[in-house]
Amino acid sequence: MDRTNPATGESLEPIADDSEDDVDAALDAATETFAEWRDVPIRKRQRLLENAADVLRENEDEYAELMTREMGKTLASARSEVRKCAWVCDYYAENAADFLDAERRPGPAHAETSVSYEPIGPVLAVMPWNFPFWQVFRFAAPHLTAGNVGLLKHASNVPGCAQAIQEVFERAGYPEGVFQSLVVHSDRAERVIEDDRVVAVTLTGSARAGRSVAKTAGENLKKSVLELGGSDPFVVLDDADLDAAAKTGAQARTINAGQSCIAAKRFVVHTDVYDEWLDTFVAEMDDLTVGDPTDDDTDLGPQAREDLLETLHEQIRDTVDEGATLELGGEPLDREGFYYPPTVLADVPRDSVAACEEVFGPAAAVFEVESEEEAIELANDTHLGLGASVWTEDLERGERVAHRLDAGMTFVNELVKSDPRVPFGGVKDSGYGRELAEHGIEEFVNKKTVWVQ
Ligand code: NAP
Repeated sequence: MDRTNPATGESLEPIADDSEDDVDAALDAATETFAEWRDVPIRKRQRLLENAADVLRENEDEYAELMTREMGKTLASARSEVRKCAWVCDYYAENAADFLDAERRPGPAHAETSVSYEPIGPVLAVMPWNFPFWQVFRFAAPHLTAGNVGLLKHASNVPGCAQAIQEVFERAGYPEGVFQSLVVHSDRAERVIEDDRVVAVTLTGSARAGRSVAKTAGENLKKSVLELGGSDPFVVLDDADLDAAAKTGAQARTINAGQSCIAAKRFVVHTDVYDEWLDTFVAEMDDLTVGDPTDDDTDLGPQAREDLLETLHEQIRDTVDEGATLELGGEPLDREGFYYPPTVLADVPRDSVAACEEVFGPAAAVFEVESEEEAIELANDTHLGLGASVWTEDLERGERVAHRLDAGMTFVNELVKSDPRVPFGGVKDSGYGRELAEHGIEEFVNKKTVWVQ
């Protein structure tokens, strides 16, 4: 697999793909390991997960530098990503047994009924490059602890991260075969999903990849979970704290150089506060430092790949051609590497590219609305439904609006974020199923009814 450091455009040493025999051996190992792993007491699986958290914390710098080298996120954010992975391990190490405790059910007379949560087997995880550690640990921490075994097909631009994650589990003392990385490109994923030794698949990535994976899983009657793209609205109502909404809005749009599924992408602003909010927001965006991701002063590193930078720029050019006003940015930086500056588009037409497609980079599309009702209608006018954020000083109003937004996750006076303690996932074309919390760990278990007469 060819790798390029997006900060410099320089090639990194390629990593060899797995052969068909390698994949076959990994699937055999997964099946054999599952037969024993499923019966390992959950307390022991939880202890191993605690070890994985320790391995992550002990090697924070090594893993962070690897992420930055392969996909360009700032070193500071990569370090915090490693710590977040340790957190999700700690969380399930503490809670998995409670989440999966068999439930006694009030049942018929003369019978005892219960529901137990049993592992189902080898689960394939197809993962993206944007949070190359977090997305994988969000999958692995609950599902390995539930007694499943994991197979990772990571994005082709981060094969070093994939190998490092497999090593985390090895260093933590997991039996061989509980977590394995398959170094394969996406054109080989279908055969793995079809294989009888794989029982289910989860994908985090684009809607295009989601449709393909879901189709193959469906044809083979296998369970799937899809965490897909988002075009999250960030709604600023007429009674919002404008400074906070501008500052957090800029952060929400530019996190991970704008390459986040839950980044705020469409800013829907009430006309009464539009001018003031827009001025402050543009100033906040303009204040951000773009540059070398290893530099502590950098807020935004490069885009992860040259083709992604080109797609982003094309979307912005198209939106301007369709009538939007460029308030800030709008041209790739003239330097080595794949850098795009914070960009603000105002007067964005409702049928333009930035209104209708996911924009995966640091470019905000701003819309002006006349009322709360119009804000809700515009926010929901998308085929995507991942997260949404509402800004108002009236918390009851915020909660009421939050309930009316078509999204899997809504936040009032806060940016959309993932947290192990609350479920994560979308509606509409943003996918189905949930990760994190007890909802996540229940996705790949057999909720088995046991009736004893
Ligand atoms: P992507 O192109 O869909 O790739 C994601 C993963 O899917 C990669 O491992 C990729 O492998 C694989 N893949 C692509 N096409 C496939 C196919 N037809 N069959 C099987 N696997 C396939 O997405 P991306 O550009 O890496 O990531 C950005 C997208 O992910 C955005 O839409 C973003 O919003 C979404 N995302 C969603 C979440 C969430 O939690 N909802 C989180 C992060 C990102 P190759 O690299 O080998 O092509």
